[in-house]
Amino acid sequence: MIILMGMPGSGKGTQGKMLADAFGYQYVSTGEMLRHYATHDQVERMHKGELLNDQEIITMMEAVLSTSPDPNKILLDGFPRSIPQAEWLLEQINEDGFTIDHVFHLDVPLDVVRARLLKRGRDDDAEETMTHRFDFYNSITLPILDFLKQKNIPVYDINAAQTPDEVHAEIKPYLDKA
Ligand code: AMP
Repeated sequence: MIILMGMPGSGKGTQGKMLADAFGYQYVSTGEMLRHYATHDQVERMHKGELLNDQEIITMMEAVLSTSPDPNKILLDGFPRSIPQAEWLLEQINEDGFTIDHVFHLDVPLDVVRARLLKRGRDDDAEETMTHRFDFYNSITLPILDFLKQKNIPVYDINAAQTPDEVHAEIKPYLDKA
């Protein structure tokens, strides 16, 4: 299993799809699933830039894991996004015997992601919502990186301010080796 971490606008979706295509991974984006299947109430919270409850997301991920042909070949974009979600994932690993082989942290300066999101113009990319999403990322999601490192899971920092092809080229050698 691969996990992509990074702020909104860091390129997780773009890189996730490129890597999944190149290396035969099942691309799983919780945000993308929610944009298709979320309830009215969930959509409202997403539009405000809030994170959904851990349990709502974990229920969705339970379905993904139990139907996946091979959890070792899942690439996660947007999960885990909080320590309880990361703890849950590690419990599944212990129970089901799959591994987290790589965590790629797509690192980008704030001004770059801001410009990218304004250009993308998704419903939840408006200025105020964006600021909320950055705050949630820094306070709730970012601590996961240290949490995973403490569990001896390899976390690689990637310079994601580059073009999509350049970022892909920086990640690829880690997977070629695997
Ligand atoms: P994304 O496309 O990954 O930026 O996700 C869009 C929105 O979906 C986020 O701003 C959250 O509201 C919600 N979301 C996606 N994944 C999660 C998650 N793992 N935990 C909580 N909320 C999530």
